[in-house]
Formats: sequence, structure tokens, C-alpha cells
Amino acid sequence: MENKFEIDVAGQLKHVQSEIAVAVRESSRMAGQVKLVAVSKTFPPEAIRLALNAGQRVFGENRVQEAAGKWSQLRTEYDNIELHLIGPLQTNKSAVAVELFDCIETLDRPKLAKVIAAELTKQQKSIELFVQVNTGAEPQKAGVLVDDLPSFLELCRGDLKLNVTGLMCIPPIGEVAQKHFSLLSDLAQQHNLSNLSMGMSADYEVAIKSGATHVRLGSAIFGRRQITPSGPD
Ligand SMILES: *Cc1c(COP(=O)(O)O)cnc(C)c1O
Repeated sequence: MENKFEIDVAGQLKHVQSEIAVAVRESSRMAGQVKLVAVSKTFPPEAIRLALNAGQRVFGENRVQEAAGKWSQLRTEYDNIELHLIGPLQTNKSAVAVELFDCIETLDRPKLAKVIAAELTKQQKSIELFVQVNTGAEPQKAGVLVDDLPSFLELCRGDLKLNVTGLMCIPPIGEVAQKHFSLLSDLAQQHNLSNLSMGMSADYEVAIKSGATHVRLGSAIFGRRQITPSGPD
């Protein structure tokens, strides 16, 4: 069947993989320490299949509904898919999110943590969780404030026994990203968390040099996104 998606996804993937390898080498880290999360939000299944056919298995989506629509089918076609939620999660979508995702990178408030914990018990499932940190203390942005991180982690790991393994951030637009990456890396170290999801198409090399274990790349792989109306989910 002819594939209509016009971007050379396999070629772009190969390119970013080699750039990632260079950044890993230049920062004296070990090969294989950085996981590429291919951000497929807004892109159609035929584009995603190009990445899957090229061997990519880890993907990121930012909306539960959209992800459910695309991935329930794709999961029947391909094995070993690892799906990450990278957008804000509303509590009323937690059941679907827990069912669909292998990792939720955007755990960011006590109420959500409690609902996810209850849902995991109900579904008898275990998934990986990262806490999103609002490193720039931006009022419009999701994420736990740096000062609130210790008590939030205590709630998640202690009381709720959630499998929190990492931190995630999205640096403020127009600021030096590196400063935020270093801060996130310090916080992860302080709290004994091994995963750091940071770095997007524009700044993943800097993120890797600051210790990123997960980089989230959309446009560098799939090309430019159409502008879509924003808002949660
Ligand atoms: C869209 C998105 C990305 C990917 O952005 P690109 O600039 O296209 O690489 C990464 N992280 C999050 C949280 C996103 O919403």
C-alpha cells in the first residue's frame, strides 16, 4: 500500500539517533543511556507506521483521547511498544491513561497521584511514573514547584507506593534551557531518581550533556506539526 505521509521519517530517525550517539559520546556517557521518545502527537497512523517499520518502539503522546484512538489499533500490529504520556492528565481520564500508557511523565499534583494509585490497584497494573517539575515556576505551566517536590515525592513514594522513577521538565520559552536541565538533574540526584526526561527537538543535545535519560523529539522526526487548538486533552 502506498504511504502518503511525505516526510522521510526513517531517514530523520536515523539522523537524530546518530546525533544522540554523538552527544552521548561527547559527554562521556555510555551508549544506550539515552532513550529516544518519538513524539507522535498530531501525526496520523501512517506517519507513525513509518517510524515503527524503522524499528522505533518508544512513543510519546500528549492527549489521552487522541492516543487511545491511534494506539489501540497500532498496538495490535506491532509488538513491544512503549507509550509515554507527556501532556497534562485530567483525573477523569486517569482510568484510560493507566490502561493505555506504560509511563506517565506528567504526575504533578496530589489529587492526580491518589487517583492514579487507586486506578493501578483496580487494574492490577504497574506503570512507570515521572514527576513533572515546573522549573521556571510559570503560572500557566503544569508541574510541581521545586519547593513542593520533597513533600510530593514523599506522598507518591511513601504513602501511595507509586513507582516514581524520574523527573520531567519543559523549560520556559526564551530562557537558557541548560539552566533548567541542570536544576532538574540536581533534583533527581537529591531524591535518588534515575530517570530524567528533558530535551526536545531544539535542545536535546544540551539536555543529554546535562544528563537526560529520555529525550522527547517530535518535529525532528515527523516534521512540522499543524497548529492545533490547545487546551487539556
Ligand atoms: C510536543 C512535545 C514535545 C516534542 O516537541 P518537538 O519540539 O516537536 O520535539 C516534547 N515534549 C512535550 C511535553 C511536548 O508536548
